[in-house]
Amino acid sequence: MYLGDILCPLSTCTFECNATKKEKEWMKVEKIKKIIEDSQCVLIGIGTDMQYTGLNKELTEIFQQKEKQEMLEKEAEWLLPFLKSYSCQNDKDIRQANAYENLYQLVKNKNYFVVTLNDDDKIFQSSFSADKITAPCGSMSRLQCINGCEESIRESEEIVNDIVDNIKNPHIKLADIAKPCCEKCGGYLVFNTVGQKKYLESGYIKSWEKYRMWLTGTLNKKICLLELGADFKYPSIIRWAFEKVAFINEKATFIRVNEKYPQMTEELKGKAYAYNKNPIEFFQ
Ligand SMILES: [Zn+2]
Repeated sequence: MYLGDILCPLSTCTFECNATKKEKEWMKVEKIKKIIEDSQCVLIGIGTDMQYTGLNKELTEIFQQKEKQEMLEKEAEWLLPFLKSYSCQNDKDIRQANAYENLYQLVKNKNYFVVTLNDDDKIFQSSFSADKITAPCGSMSRLQCINGCEESIRESEEIVNDIVDNIKNPHIKLADIAKPCCEKCGGYLVFNTVGQKKYLESGYIKSWEKYRMWLTGTLNKKICLLELGADFKYPSIIRWAFEKVAFINEKATFIRVNEKYPQMTEELKGKAYAYNKNPIEFFQ
């Protein structure tokens, strides 16, 4: 199995060379910087290794306490995605934020585009331009009707905040909190994310078309593909798609940063680099 060329500016270097671990780490980062500097455009793929997984502690404790007091089993579980949405919007993971900022510093003067598999919207809270991001797996900041009514799609902030106020209010039981409903059909509102049976793709489709246009414009250009922590859940969005772009474009350079799946296809031999590390750690 081909693991990509070792990211080291010294052509003779192997992992057994005399450089210390710290020196090697530095050389690898410098190498990536150089590749990006030498490129005309940069395509960044953000995988689920960079997903925000935190849940607001205070809110979770109140929720669990009420659930116990009211002796609820699964009745209140519908509230959990609302807790998650609130946490994504209001809490911060410093290491994740640092990783986005450091990544942004690397590409800010370049013609870049970002494709993310994450629905946490964290990249939209970073310095990256929202116009240059597409998130085909949806967003925890948008709601849609469970039955897929097209006009139901909306920002979730107001509804999420109302629900969170109700959870925090000691006089309101979880069991008495009303589920938000679609104005058209009365079906429940759920988050506009890819796991929904009737997922509304209109939430992201405009940004996706923009991305496809951007990609078409990179055909004869020197492109750097930076794939960060993408697994095999939706390989046609990043993993296989990026490999294909790198294969077709003769001037492409492919960089894969992935702790679990750093392996590279043989077809990209000579223009691919794999780095066996979690991307959040990598960009500290
Ligand atoms: Zn509906």
